[in-house]
Amino acid sequence: MRFATFSLPDDSHPRLGVVSATHIAELRAALGPQWKGKGPVPGSMLELIDGGPTMWTPLLAAVTESLAGLSRNSEAKLIDSVRLHAPIPRPRKNVMCLGLNYLSHLEESARARGREAKIPEVPVIFTKSPTAVNGPYDPIHWDTAATQQVDYEVELGVVIGTAGKNIARANAMDHIFGYTVINDVSARDLQLRHMQWFKGKSLDGFCPMGPVLVTRDEFGDPQNKAISLHVNGVEKQNSNTSRMIFPVDVIIEQLSKGMTLEPGDVISTGTPEGVGLGRTPPEYLNDGDVVEARVEGIGALKNRVTVIR
Ligand code: MG
Repeated sequence: MRFATFSLPDDSHPRLGVVSATHIAELRAALGPQWKGKGPVPGSMLELIDGGPTMWTPLLAAVTESLAGLSRNSEAKLIDSVRLHAPIPRPRKNVMCLGLNYLSHLEESARARGREAKIPEVPVIFTKSPTAVNGPYDPIHWDTAATQQVDYEVELGVVIGTAGKNIARANAMDHIFGYTVINDVSARDLQLRHMQWFKGKSLDGFCPMGPVLVTRDEFGDPQNKAISLHVNGVEKQNSNTSRMIFPVDVIIEQLSKGMTLEPGDVISTGTPEGVGLGRTPPEYLNDGDVVEARVEGIGALKNRVTVIR
């Protein structure tokens, strides 16, 4: 199942939608009158996730039946006619991010910073502020007074479905609700200047997310997906999630050691090689650039850069 958060052109109110190949409908509309009396219908992505498997399982079964006929549902809209928001427009916590989780990116980062490439023994973890979250097709904009070296990083995003602490690797996948695409937009000058990465990773709009959230069962194996990024149509990153140093189940095992993961928590799993920082000379994003970040089985973010000078 593919879920999205969307609004209509004449109404900015975000709604929880179910997505078919061509159409989107509010979950309530997709379920139709036959759902009446069978249970509550969540109105937002977080409400759906918070409901836990006792809520999702029957809902997903009912929606799956109606999905093939979604285009004939009078309340369904063509997906291109609505505005998609980030699946979780305002996460309750910072987005938890892996740094240096692909060997090739670890090597290019070390080279660019003049350091030795050392494979970390445990995941490198930092976070991005919830105010950084941005829509899948919304502009990424910044003020040159704040940063002058903005870079892109395509990543597979994981959304937690059920809470857990000290989660064993063998059970880790059971705690996932679904997957999305994240562009971990990064101000390299701020990362370097502030020593810690938080500030440079957290400027407003620096976390485009979406376009949809694909449930765990539909997505399948997260360690076998093509992942790529284009700037103005030119390929900059092209890899596969099989090349992660710490795969998703290990990330969850490590993150949850002594720390509770909760429904709706978002984890960004790191980027492969090809970022602007690693290029000779470095290539940073410019006003008017269009950045397209794609993960197989989910879709692509497409954000235009607007720089305020
Ligand atoms: Mg990153």
